Amino acid sequence: MVKVVKFGGSSLASAKQFKKVADIIHADDSRRYVVPSAPGKRSKEDTKVTDMLYACYDLAAKGKPFDEQFAAIKQRYVEIIEGLSLDLSLDKEFDIIRSCFIGKAGRDYAASRGEYLNGLVLANYLGYDFIDPADTIFFDDYGRFDGKRTYKALGERLENTERAVIPGFYGSMPNDTIKTFSRGGSDVTGSIVAASCNADLYENWTDVSGFMIADPRIVEDPETIKVITYKELRELSYMGAGVLHEDAIFPVRKAGIPINIKNTNAPEDQGTMIVESTSQKSNYTITGIAGKKGFTSISIEKDMMNSELGFGRRVLEVFEKNGISFEHMPSGIDTMTVIVHQEEFGAAEQEVLAGIHRNCKPDSIVIETGLALIAIVGRGMKSTRGTAGKIFSALAEARVNVNMIDQGSSELNIIVGVHEEDFETATQSIYDTFVTNAD
Ligand code: ASP
Repeated sequence: MVKVVKFGGSSLASAKQFKKVADIIHADDSRRYVVPSAPGKRSKEDTKVTDMLYACYDLAAKGKPFDEQFAAIKQRYVEIIEGLSLDLSLDKEFDIIRSCFIGKAGRDYAASRGEYLNGLVLANYLGYDFIDPADTIFFDDYGRFDGKRTYKALGERLENTERAVIPGFYGSMPNDTIKTFSRGGSDVTGSIVAASCNADLYENWTDVSGFMIADPRIVEDPETIKVITYKELRELSYMGAGVLHEDAIFPVRKAGIPINIKNTNAPEDQGTMIVESTSQKSNYTITGIAGKKGFTSISIEKDMMNSELGFGRRVLEVFEKNGISFEHMPSGIDTMTVIVHQEEFGAAEQEVLAGIHRNCKPDSIVIETGLALIAIVGRGMKSTRGTAGKIFSALAEARVNVNMIDQGSSELNIIVGVHEEDFETATQSIYDTFVTNAD
């Protein structure tokens, strides 16, 4: 059994957190490959080392003094090393980093040092080997992750390494410069490492005990999701934000490896398992509810639209030409509605309207803004009668007007569009119907 364990920034923010991490790793012999983030926040007001590195490098790149900021970064590591009583000095490493800052080695290089140094400290503390992703995780000339090269190099390396720490967040370009994934990218590294060694499980340790059924900023103390499928998670992608990097799903999913989201501060909690498929029924008909504000709907009406060949294509072509992707597209016999992100649409509004008039000669176009979309997702919905009925009675009872309904063809989700001001009430009422008052 092989487990790859990734620890987020708050799990490695201080010596105290490092000790918890070591306890977790030592508690299970199969936790052989460890992917650390850079030290995160120790308290709400604290700053992540990654952000300190970006800010410090920006000063250096402008030729401004950066000694004070640099010293503060070094101090974060010194405190951890001293707190763990390690016989380790990073002085030489910091000298190299300093000269690379002066030599303008790039923002990605600068940010990557957060993980690199944390990896050195953790490897020393655990007595594990250190594998530098600069030698094993690769991007191509376009800056896209190069799976073929990576899986070969990293796979071979791991095959010959019993236990290792592989820092998250970065790899190298064909010209040997450092490149990072987008923010939160250590999750992606963890997934790549798991796929490279064909792990049995990818444990992603963070500071919450998994995904919650609804956003805790809206619903008080929502329950945790025990098991969720990759498909469900994709449908709930608005929700995953902040817990797991969206791109972290793909490498492990392809390799059939489940992900377990776990809490470093409460390791006994089961967390959330993300799996390809499961025979396990969820406790409730729905697995999760997620939503977002900031959508606009553009409804296009034209008599006999249903028999006009290519009408839909011509409408969508206009959006495509203006670089706007659409979120949903409910339609009626003579109407078609395109739902888009307000921000994206706002910038090209008049071009799009003119384009639709020109391309499609509609009878009318109606724009409605200030919409929120709520996705109600659950693998259990397919086999349960009356789910849609329950959703709409809940919304009606809460006096929420529904502007749009869209049931995904997989019967895995129902999306409702409501006015932004009803968003919170709608979410709460759906949660109460399916979870609080579940029968
Ligand atoms: N340290 C990086 C960030 O803050 C990557 C990570 O933690 O996953 O974005």
